[in-house]
Amino acid sequence: MLTSIAGRSVVVTGASKGIGKGIARVFAQRGAKVLLAARGAADLEATVAELKAAGGDVAGQVCDVTDWDSVQALIARAEADHGGLDVLCANAGIFPQTKMVDMDPEDWDFVLGTNLKSCFLCVKASIPAFERRGGGRIIITSSITGPITGYPGWTHYAASKAGQLGFMRTAAMEMSRYGVTVNAVMPGNIITEGLESLGDEYLRQMAESIPLKRLGNVDDIGNAALFFASDEANYVTGQTIVVDGGQVLPESLDAMKEI
Ligand code: NAP
Repeated sequence: MLTSIAGRSVVVTGASKGIGKGIARVFAQRGAKVLLAARGAADLEATVAELKAAGGDVAGQVCDVTDWDSVQALIARAEADHGGLDVLCANAGIFPQTKMVDMDPEDWDFVLGTNLKSCFLCVKASIPAFERRGGGRIIITSSITGPITGYPGWTHYAASKAGQLGFMRTAAMEMSRYGVTVNAVMPGNIITEGLESLGDEYLRQMAESIPLKRLGNVDDIGNAALFFASDEANYVTGQTIVVDGGQVLPESLDAMKEI
């Protein structure tokens, strides 16, 4: 049993759907004050209403994580409404699938901007709030794709997710002076609105390649984020946890047939 995080101020980006929504729900269920962020107001309002109906102390803020002013306003809102900032979950991300032969340079910039530069913007914006608080936690949603595995169509995405880990290691060193830890969750294939858009055949084949024989769910990632945010993880920084049902383990297709 982890020490209670009730009352802590948590910001989750990309929280109107998918993994971000799962992270927000896990924290809200444990009594944290959660500020959810996303670009689309309608989805955000619906998610906030759902979590509130379940008893969560939650609010929503429309925010584009690629926009510096928007990110600063997000952190300011958490401080103003929730009395400070304790946990930042930099989760927002996109994964359009395009092979390099069809990829425009603008496609590359858009994915790197949304997934990687946004981490820098969110962490930078949070520094004064963490300094005022005297400590805190940053949890980045990376991926197995890039740091460990590859998949055609995702060179930009893979680079952004591996880049997040490079960013994390030096950010962990810089943030240590503020008493802030910086860690990353590396999900495998998790059932979300974004993943479902890749189609039933993708989901079926993916489940077959995973030793636990199923895709993950968003709570699996929320629980890993909760550990990094807990008091018990206070001496863990610059580290990663893979949450993938064993997906990166098989050495070959035959290895899967043996289990
Ligand atoms: P999703 O279902 O498509 O949800 C993405 C969320 O991010 C939405 O709330 C979306 O809302 C928000 N978002 C996108 N661009 C944004 C921006 N510029 N500013 C603010 N919010 C933005 O995606 P997901 O599957 O949950 O993925 C979430 C994170 O997990 C990503 O970083 C992804 O790389 C990572 N991940 C996912 C999987 C997986 O299997 N699902 C695996 C590994 C890693 P709006 O569009 O309204 O802004």
